Amino acid sequence: MQPTMKSSSKGDLNRLSIGIQDVPQPAQLKTLFAKNGGFLRKTVSGLGKVNPRELETVVHSLHQQAFEFYDCLKCANCCRSISPAISHNDVDVMAKKLRIRPSEVVQNYLQMDNDGDFVFHEAPCPFIDQENYCGIYSHRPKACREYPHTDRSRFYQILQLSLRNAEICPVVYAILMKLSAKNPGN
Ligand code: SF4
Ligand code: SF4
Repeated sequence: MQPTMKSSSKGDLNRLSIGIQDVPQPAQLKTLFAKNGGFLRKTVSGLGKVNPRELETVVHSLHQQAFEFYDCLKCANCCRSISPAISHNDVDVMAKKLRIRPSEVVQNYLQMDNDGDFVFHEAPCPFIDQENYCGIYSHRPKACREYPHTDRSRFYQILQLSLRNAEICPVVYAILMKLSAKNPGN
């Protein structure tokens, strides 16, 4: 049965809040997603029917709440498992930080993926250290700064991306699970 989030359920969504107990340990995420991925898929399908502005307001609020208490240094799942898309401008910025030529950044750290985007040639990212600090933090690619995108505008456009990110980012997983609780189709 399809989820039934057509009705805006505005009051309900606006009452959502997120706490530390809602965000899983990074190491648990694969197992939890394997268990609840189908449930979250239905949720995401239902969210496509929610008023986009309402959805964005709620997701931004949950994002803000979560990152007030959640410490990415205890996670780094994103840096360890996926690569950002890296633009030519990102390459120039990284080259400045590393004090090498842009062509050397490409040669030493990047490859082109099937979509024609530069990505890091290895995972974990070559710039993450043992304690999860980024070696080029002030000069990191734009996509790193924006990840996990739950505070971006037009959130309704990245529902499928967010579903994929729920397998990587504990905060995205927690946000979608919170939204699921208000989805009468689940
Ligand atoms: S550049 Fe920094 S923020 Fe981006 S993936 Fe690598 S370690 Fe993470
Ligand atoms: S953005 Fe998400 S996946 Fe990346 S370190 Fe923070 S909580 Fe972990």
